[in-house]
Amino acid sequence: MAKNNEEYCSFCGRPAAKAGMLIAGVNGLICRQCAEAAFNIFEQEKEHNAALPDIDLKDTPKPKEIKAWLDRYVIGQDEAKQCLAVAVYNHYKRLARQDNDAEDEVEIEKSNIVMVGPTGTGKTLLARSIARLLHVPFTIVDATVFTEAGYVGEDVESILSRLLQAADDNVKLAERGIVFIDEIDKIARKADNPSITRDVSGEGVQQSLLKLLEGTVVNVPPKGGRKHPDQEYTKVDTRHILFICGGAFDGIERKIANRLNTRTVGFNSVRNENDTSPDRLLQYIQPQDLKSFGLIPEIIGRLPVLTHLDPLTKDALRDILTKPRNAIIRQYAKLFEMDGVKLTFDEDALDFIVEKADSYKLGARGLRSIVEKIMTDAMFEVPSTELKTFNVTKEYAEAHLGNKLQ
Ligand code: ADP
Repeated sequence: MAKNNEEYCSFCGRPAAKAGMLIAGVNGLICRQCAEAAFNIFEQEKEHNAALPDIDLKDTPKPKEIKAWLDRYVIGQDEAKQCLAVAVYNHYKRLARQDNDAEDEVEIEKSNIVMVGPTGTGKTLLARSIARLLHVPFTIVDATVFTEAGYVGEDVESILSRLLQAADDNVKLAERGIVFIDEIDKIARKADNPSITRDVSGEGVQQSLLKLLEGTVVNVPPKGGRKHPDQEYTKVDTRHILFICGGAFDGIERKIANRLNTRTVGFNSVRNENDTSPDRLLQYIQPQDLKSFGLIPEIIGRLPVLTHLDPLTKDALRDILTKPRNAIIRQYAKLFEMDGVKLTFDEDALDFIVEKADSYKLGARGLRSIVEKIMTDAMFEVPSTELKTFNVTKEYAEAHLGNKLQ
């Protein structure tokens, strides 16, 4: 475009004298700087929207294979594993169908999952292990942060910012990711809570989460927040993101018991006593119990797969110590091995650790801190010695744990 005989860049308006060479189009001119900026935008867009290979069910692990994979990392929890395996497989079917039969009128709904179980029983571990098998971006968020921040809109987007980061900013990949929302029970509406504000916040957060679970296009601010008003948002469609929620739902046993018309500390003539002990009631959990606990029906509707995790028995705790691929004892053995020392534990030392962990009621979480406390002195001393083996006896464990706890 020429003004007063001088040529200007049609994009930034700088004159040729300042902008240098201008390339002419049919109706305008462009300077080098604007052309480069345009090129970068195209490149970014290409990266964001890079096409992913179609999902082929033949390459997707079958539910039994998914369960077998989970067995390598997670002890027990068979029902939850089976439920997850089926839900994830169905999720893939849904993705495959979307890729192939866009016209098909039967739309398979998303199988978002909610896992209820005491703390430290493997909820996060299950979700993490699934994501590792499927090679999809995975992120863990804690529902409690939503309540704290108060500004709801921002927080919900932050879930997706994290997922985008996990997907190296590839939007298409993120849109097939898995989000694990921990402590979902903490945003329950507190019906018997007299504080109105608190009550509202729980429900408000649930409402904003609902949109995400349903499937919506969210404007996600760039990494680290939006610093300029003109900074571009990334649009992320949550329709195909699988949400797995987990929570301890402390006290939900009472709601289940009420529904079953029995008392928690009681005995029902129909079921045997073992089955209705508070620890075992979770197996009867139904969506309406989540509602009694304070989740809004719409959220429950969007979490169609409901499963529970069992409290860990002593046998399970014992297995967790030694059996999984990255079992705690194996991890310590590895640490010692790097100093050329073979670490072993007496059987009764392991029993002692299990007894302690069981008494803390922290699920498997207690195990790690107990072993850490027992091993701290040895890890400090042993590397400076000539020792080639180190055996932990029950007495050693007792003495070293006793020193540091109680
Ligand atoms: P939560 O149920 O509170 O999400 P986590 O999955 O975070 O519990 O478990 C905490 C830790 O305890 C995990 O890192 C894992 O090492 C161990 N753990 C818990 N449950 C199991 C289990 N069933 N099998 C193997 N390890 C477990």
